[in-house]
Amino acid sequence: MKSPVVDYEACIGCGSCVEICPEVFELKNDDKAWVTGSGKCDSCNCQEAIDICPVQAISWSE
Ligand code: SF4
Repeated sequence: MKSPVVDYEACIGCGSCVEICPEVFELKNDDKAWVTGSGKCDSCNCQEAIDICPVQAISWSE
């Protein structure tokens, strides 16, 4: 299944993806966005989260 993945080296913890797509992304204590709901991305705007990430840290994994 297609799901978003976060490059933790690149993520700066801005929280934009969490705002757009809280069912899928969660900001953890390390200030990195974690994909905690990848199964839910069929019905949300993960592509929008990918597009808004200022450091292009999110991509699709098949
Ligand atoms: S939008 Fe990008 S940089 Fe911001 S928290 Fe999400 S993955 Fe990290």
